[in-house]
Amino acid sequence: MAPTVIIDPGHGGIDPGGGTNALFAEKDLVLKISLYQQRRFAELNISATLTRTTDQTLESEARAALVKSSGARFCLSNHINAGGGQGAELIYSIYGTAAFPRAMALELQAAGMAVRRVYTRTYPGNAKQDYYFMHRDTGNVETVIIEYGFADNAQDAQLLNTKWQSLAEAVVKGFCTYNKLPYTPPKIQAPPTDTPAPSTPGTGQPNTPAADWKQEAVEWLYEQGLLTDATWRNQIDQPLPLWAEAILLRRLYEKLTNRDEA
Ligand SMILES: [Zn+2]
Repeated sequence: MAPTVIIDPGHGGIDPGGGTNALFAEKDLVLKISLYQQRRFAELNISATLTRTTDQTLESEARAALVKSSGARFCLSNHINAGGGQGAELIYSIYGTAAFPRAMALELQAAGMAVRRVYTRTYPGNAKQDYYFMHRDTGNVETVIIEYGFADNAQDAQLLNTKWQSLAEAVVKGFCTYNKLPYTPPKIQAPPTDTPAPSTPGTGQPNTPAADWKQEAVEWLYEQGLLTDATWRNQIDQPLPLWAEAILLRRLYEKLTNRDEA
């Protein structure tokens, strides 16, 4: 069965993308955003596929063909902007509907990213053709190019670097709102693990959703590779046993003393 949505992480491989700065490369950040969104769509029982799942080179023609042949109803093409501006930009096809990108823009705004504009762009000299190939060459798939912010704007860059999950989530939420699909806030993901799981399930306290700032603090430990077992995510209000703290501190120590090798 065709997926409902195909997510397209822009650029990749030899093409880092223009929305790159000292904090991140566009190709990496949009891949993280896209993989996150795919997991979230799966949680919400919305079938989603990707044009690329790794850091691979994908030429325009092949990319558009993947989207076109996916049979998906929608495509979210994820990008980071550059060139002196601030805020998110959402570009939809001249044959698409503005209500769809606007629903996502509203949520991006609610997540703290200013919205610069939601617009269409036509090919020079041809008002019946879209400017961007992702609109022109993707057939019946309704594609929205989402520029999450400007890599060369300090405020945007900071937000993109630290709050990319909230921004990725905002698009998922706006997608659901527009399509009148049931939306629930994120449950916590469980990637493959390689450290011992907590030996006791805690105090039997129910797993209530933790505040965003708590979750973010814990996510940082995972991103840094200091915490690897996903089980901790489900009990972030519980103390770590001494052995787990010891592992975490040892990893931190090794990271700090080996940093020249990186
Ligand atoms: Zn881009």
